[in-house]
Amino acid sequence: MINRFITREIKIGEIGIGGDNPIRIQSMTNTNTMDVNATVEQILRLTDAGCEIVRLAVPGIREAHKLEEIKNELIKLRCNVPLIADVHFNPEAAIIAASLIEKVRINPGNYTDRNTGKVNFSDVEILASKQRIKDRMTPLIEVCRKYGTALRIGSNHGSLSERIVSQYGNTPEGMVESALEFVRVCRELNFHNLVLSMKASNVRLMVYSNRLLVKQMLNENMDYPIHLGVTEAGNSADGRLKSAIGIGALLADGIGDTIRVSLTEDPVNEIPVAQEIIKYFDNEYSVEKIPEVDHFFNLPHSYQPRYSDRSVLNTGEKSPLVLGSKTNPEEQKPDIVMPDGLAGKNVLFIHGNNAVKNDGQPNNQIIVFEAVREHALFEIKEFIRQNLKAGSEAPVILRKKYSGKNFLIKAALDFGPVFLEGYGDGLWIEYEKETDGENSVTLSFQLLQASGARITKTEYIACPSCGRTLYDIQASLEKIRKKTGHLKGLKIAVMGCIVNGPGEMADADYGYIGMGAGKVALFKGKLLMKKGVPEEEAVDQLIGIIKENGDWCDPPQQVTSV
Ligand code: SF4
Repeated sequence: MINRFITREIKIGEIGIGGDNPIRIQSMTNTNTMDVNATVEQILRLTDAGCEIVRLAVPGIREAHKLEEIKNELIKLRCNVPLIADVHFNPEAAIIAASLIEKVRINPGNYTDRNTGKVNFSDVEILASKQRIKDRMTPLIEVCRKYGTALRIGSNHGSLSERIVSQYGNTPEGMVESALEFVRVCRELNFHNLVLSMKASNVRLMVYSNRLLVKQMLNENMDYPIHLGVTEAGNSADGRLKSAIGIGALLADGIGDTIRVSLTEDPVNEIPVAQEIIKYFDNEYSVEKIPEVDHFFNLPHSYQPRYSDRSVLNTGEKSPLVLGSKTNPEEQKPDIVMPDGLAGKNVLFIHGNNAVKNDGQPNNQIIVFEAVREHALFEIKEFIRQNLKAGSEAPVILRKKYSGKNFLIKAALDFGPVFLEGYGDGLWIEYEKETDGENSVTLSFQLLQASGARITKTEYIACPSCGRTLYDIQASLEKIRKKTGHLKGLKIAVMGCIVNGPGEMADADYGYIGMGAGKVALFKGKLLMKKGVPEEEAVDQLIGIIKENGDWCDPPQQVTSV
């Protein structure tokens, strides 16, 4: 059973978050907020799908005022879904929004100070910067208090302020402190209608910053609800896997009161994924919900992988291996083809249902742990706990057989949080029946990449887009994927807007970022290479830049079956 981090209940309109409330599902529109009809239409589709809270981009004052029209239109259509205004760089827009809708999200990284390239801050400058937080927050809090509006203080890894980065680095510590500075001001002003979030495109970083947030909240006697999400997760299988692994790892810890699965797709597609993630944990929560403070203090918030003796596997691969029962010439090959791949090796099979205790195996042995529970994460974690306690260095292959179809999210939740922590030497997923478009070996490689355990292809950091996006990001991402998917290890960011894109593209090697209607800016790392490129030409120009910088190789020849 999971004991949840007990948070206080806050109300977003009629919806309760935190406390005994179920985990709530959020999403965000990607329409232009000035287009009331399109925005209302998308909000209705989201709520029909099961979305409980909807966020909208509010880049400026005009959009903030538009919220009133959107809200009124929704009320006319008998839709009272709570709305959140997403505000960056614009305290005035936040104040207007706070008087019109149920919640405002601000980013502490850009609410008070704009970045100027400054690297070092004196004590006096730090104090002045903190005072500015209070000066800027006080009017917003008073409006929130007057209208019963909630506030989300949401740190994003890519957009911490220069002052925070100079003090704490671009780290989970920096993300947590960035938000808590604002929270302390709210508490001084006796305002507690707060939700906090720590988001990053790097799944491990997102998980660690949230765990650290809980630890720090416990230290400071705080109990604010937490919103979870992996930003810039991308689309298709990769986006779903990253979101499920990051959000799932934290829900398994008992952390999280609302979730958003960000996909660079129609936002309606996010809802069934979020529902499936929540369903996985539905029956795992402890009825008594006793806060296990020690548990939260002991959750790792830095990477401490378990090193086993992988030489017994004899493949030369240092990262976790993929095992597979069959090979399809058109699909990626597994590292070890089963059932013969482990022949002649000293293998101990442990079946999840067996009472066999793992008391520590000789190091020349390979352990294959077969999970059998519907929700296998918990039995795998228990096995790992025993194995670590026994001090075994034997490599461990984690295995599960799935029947039925659509295993993507289930497999991500079963195994992702474990590989994310640097545990597991091999993954052996089997389907009772391979169905069209699903392949267990492909899924295994994707799952290992999404959890940061093994990189075998290009990594895409793509934002879900929002009202700030003025080009067809979904089509561009697909085009870029098709042309660059073979560039193993290269990170390419595809972002919707120039306001947040460059900061939030994290440590991408190349960036493709929206810059005005139908125009794109191209980056090499943080360096702007070209701007105002028409979107029809931008993918080819991006490839040109990749080639000029020596990071290109031709795609492998397609193998065609005869
Ligand atoms: S980076 Fe993407 S999601 Fe973030 S503000 Fe810009 S367009 Fe919106």
